[in-house]
Amino acid sequence: MTEGTRNSIAPPDPGTLSLVATPIGNLGDLGDRAREVLRGAGLLLAEDTRHTLQLLRACGIERPPGSIESLHEHNERERVPGIVERLARGESVALASDAGTPLVSDPGALLVAAAVRAGVRVTVVPGPCAAVAALAVSALPTARFTFEGFLPPRAAARREALQRLAGDERTLVFYEAPHRLRETLEDCAAACGADRPAIVAREITKKFETIYRGTLGELAAAATSDADMTRGEAVIVVQGAAQERRADDVEADRVLRALLSELPVAQAARLAARITGRPRRELYDRAVGLRPAPV
Ligand code: SAM
Repeated sequence: MTEGTRNSIAPPDPGTLSLVATPIGNLGDLGDRAREVLRGAGLLLAEDTRHTLQLLRACGIERPPGSIESLHEHNERERVPGIVERLARGESVALASDAGTPLVSDPGALLVAAAVRAGVRVTVVPGPCAAVAALAVSALPTARFTFEGFLPPRAAARREALQRLAGDERTLVFYEAPHRLRETLEDCAAACGADRPAIVAREITKKFETIYRGTLGELAAAATSDADMTRGEAVIVVQGAAQERRADDVEADRVLRALLSELPVAQAARLAARITGRPRRELYDRAVGLRPAPV
């Protein structure tokens, strides 16, 4: 325990915006402070009010009728001024997402920025976050990591994004929807190399929690052969690029750039594969990322 540590559970102060993390799959992860704020805030903002009502009911938390309102990606912009006004008048407001930490691939960023601009006190009740949970359990380096949220759903944009990240030495953390998990793992393997260590953390804290460990190539193959893997929620964690690998990448990019100045992507990738001895598919994806923007 360090100086300044508190052991206090109290309803939120008037005029304060509290960001409350909620369980990602195990109701036992809702702490006493979170309960108190979810119970005591004058206004509770929920991503999906029905979902939050279920959580409150399951945890035995009662609130006055009509004191839960929605705040989601489609109404946040229009709702923010009114909420900040209520905060300025002294109302205490709590924000909770459906699961995990608000603002982490979830709504709330506009509200927090506006509240801070208006001089409102913003505080946080920290707790579950799927990205951090997956990183902790990954057994991959944790000293430096980059959280990338959801990759673009369209294949071309996703491959381009991965190409930009392939040389990053930090551990990479992605959220992914179950129906795109296989494709994304295949694209990660193509961009970062099939031999790169990674994990898929599925259904963390839930009944069917499973941590799949292996190389990106093995995980992509498992996503095809093991139907369970693509059921439920998942986080992908990929080890960062090794130094030697980056040197290889720099060389591959140099060759590709020279070829791309004269040839279309597919042809440049084919020749680069012959020159560097690296897989054509991987070089094709790199070439897509390097291709000069159309004028
Ligand atoms: N704000 C949340 C947080 O702090 O983790 C994340 C919300 S984001 C809309 C939902 C994504 O988080 C899912 O698609 C999945 O990638 C990840 N996720 C959430 N719960 C999870 C769980 N129990 N196990 C694995 N991944 C989870």
